[in-house]
Amino acid sequence: MPSVDAAELCAQLVRIPSVNPALEPGGSGEGAVVDQTASWLDAWGFQVETPEASPGRFNVVARRGPRGGRTLLLNGHTDTVGVQGMSDPFSGDVREGRLYGRGACDMKAGVAAALAAAASLSETDMTGELIVALTADEEHASIGMQHLVASGIVADGAVVCEPTGLAVMPAHKGFLWVDFTVRGKAAHGSRPEVGVDAIVHTGAILSSLAEEAHRLQTGRTHPLLGPASIHAGTIEGGTAPSVYPERCRLTVERRTLPGETEEQLMGEVAEMVAAARGRIPQLSVEVAAGLFRAGTEVRSSDPLVMGLLNELAEAGLPSRVEGMTAWVDACFLNQSGTPALCFGPGSIAQAHTSDEWVSVEEIRTCQRVLTSWVRAHLA
Ligand SMILES: [Zn+2]
Repeated sequence: MPSVDAAELCAQLVRIPSVNPALEPGGSGEGAVVDQTASWLDAWGFQVETPEASPGRFNVVARRGPRGGRTLLLNGHTDTVGVQGMSDPFSGDVREGRLYGRGACDMKAGVAAALAAAASLSETDMTGELIVALTADEEHASIGMQHLVASGIVADGAVVCEPTGLAVMPAHKGFLWVDFTVRGKAAHGSRPEVGVDAIVHTGAILSSLAEEAHRLQTGRTHPLLGPASIHAGTIEGGTAPSVYPERCRLTVERRTLPGETEEQLMGEVAEMVAAARGRIPQLSVEVAAGLFRAGTEVRSSDPLVMGLLNELAEAGLPSRVEGMTAWVDACFLNQSGTPALCFGPGSIAQAHTSDEWVSVEEIRTCQRVLTSWVRAHLA
């Protein structure tokens, strides 16, 4: 068995910048990490492809073991957010058991754990297929994961190694963005008989939003995710203190629970607008749905969840099942028929911060658990 250390792989990956260029102009992109990880996987006996998800943005898809039987998928994203405010973002240095650098936690540690697990199994005869899929662009538009599922990849179970602090997270929230454009009538501030105040009219929508937020807070609660929520994101309107504002634009974000559809959510938005119109009958507003990403879940009784919990228990580790509040790429796997959950080293609290780090011990523990999980099902 090759002695590959996930923490060492993580340090090497942190030292290869892979800032998402869609988030930060001039960002290096995933290319060098793709080359490095593809060459490791090739050396460990995997059949490796690097499909281009969009121009210059590549996934790594590596397979080992016979096709047609049971298939398991390990996934992580190779891009990171930008490095503003970081003094030494690509050091990969370890101090007091913490490995530092951009992407250390989100999620080169998880990628490294998946890779090291794959390496640990490289001399094992497999009874089914292990796929390691590393995807581009999770931090922006998830083009890598969308390309992966569009390519027809299906597995009996997938672990997305996002930072969960080694809790098993079978459910995650989704979101819908909604744009409101409220029309008023511009007029000199001294002429109230002519002017229609688009900002005050938007206030009626904000009052509806506050009521809706309260309704959600006290409504249906998901056992792992709690209630859904809604909040204002941005607001912009008006040109000068002495002018009635002609237009006000409000964007709102609704965080969703698994099962909530865009159609249903836009129905609730229409009710919010109707309530606002109850306050201001002449309210003129255009409503447009923006980006929608569904919340999805795997049932806690699913073999995928039970299997990982079993490996944690066998390793003498705490078995925690929790909800992922953020939206994650696991959504696209679940929607395409591959049950997917999140399980990985590191805390989401360190993700995207200027002091990003991950516990070295957690990286190695994740490697051990993933290795035994794959071995239990495929070896
Ligand atoms: Zn991530």
